[in-house]
Amino acid sequence: MLLVTGGAGYIGSHAVLALRDAGESVVVIDDLSTGRRDAVPADVPLIIGDAGDAALLADVFSAQDVEAVLHFAGSIQVGESVADPIKYYRNNVGTSLALVAAAMAAGVRHFLFSSTASVYGVPAEDPIPEDCQKAPINPYGASKLMVERLLADVAVISPMNHGVLRYFNVAGADPAGRSGQSTPGATHLIKVALAAALGQRDGVDIFGDDYPTGDGTGIRDYIHVSDLAAAHVAALAALRAEPARSFTCNIGYGHGYSVNQVLDAVDRVTGARIARRVQPRRAGDPPTLVADVTRRRALLDWQPRFDDIDRIIADALAWEQQLQRRLAESN
Ligand code: UDP
Repeated sequence: MLLVTGGAGYIGSHAVLALRDAGESVVVIDDLSTGRRDAVPADVPLIIGDAGDAALLADVFSAQDVEAVLHFAGSIQVGESVADPIKYYRNNVGTSLALVAAAMAAGVRHFLFSSTASVYGVPAEDPIPEDCQKAPINPYGASKLMVERLLADVAVISPMNHGVLRYFNVAGADPAGRSGQSTPGATHLIKVALAAALGQRDGVDIFGDDYPTGDGTGIRDYIHVSDLAAAHVAALAALRAEPARSFTCNIGYGHGYSVNQVLDAVDRVTGARIARRVQPRRAGDPPTLVADVTRRRALLDWQPRFDDIDRIIADALAWEQQLQRRLAESN
């Protein structure tokens, strides 16, 4: 049995779909603070609660023979982390500490952790290798890096091996329409641009056009959420392989798009012409974040299937339209 925390959330729910498609048995813990019950398939057990609740975890681990934990639950918005650091250290560090301790005590064999390119801060290298200096510039990245350190320290004394996956910019939705990004108030570029294309807002603010990039706007390595989900299936296989080892791995495609290129793609896919307003840079935004994928290629038996910005946007658009239809039907 696999325990997936945050399995009702955006990335976690796609991972649950990929794990089930691969024939795995899964149980989900989610407090539904941002996740949705209907993102979890009906035949997957959903425990509604806090993934850092020691008493709940003791119950779960004694009721189930959990081979591996995949830990997605956490808070993920950079701006919010600056405004409310306590929330980030509680939800990301405190929860992970309780979960890792409970997993070790229960004899769990493998632990897969959702980390982020935000641990690099403003990276000195482009593309970014995993051993690049880690200097997070916000509480979100700092909280994830602390858990990476916790796992490394624990690995010295525990037979539980771990994988750390540092996600780049995750976007898109399940191509079969089973899940997508539903978090209200999400501020991510593709989400905001699609809202503009669908007439839900009057345009998009471009946060800076004076970066040292080709067109002056920020460059990011956008990865389709279903590819990211499939990478977890491959990472689990790597954790199960003998001899057991732990690893840290970037998960991106290894190339990036600027804000303007993303907006061009949204215009192309939707047929809209989104109004663009250049604004000052957003605090805490590095100019470029692109993964060096050398280690990922060596480590994971995984091939991207949706490495195409138009495809990412088309799948995200289909999901937004499905959400709009559901909303209209419920009114
Ligand atoms: N961005 C933007 N306008 C927006 C949202 C984002 O110009 O309304 C830019 C942002 O400055 C960054 C890129 O788009 O260069 C991706 O930002 P996002 O918030 O999607 O993800 P992040 O890289 O911050 O995790």
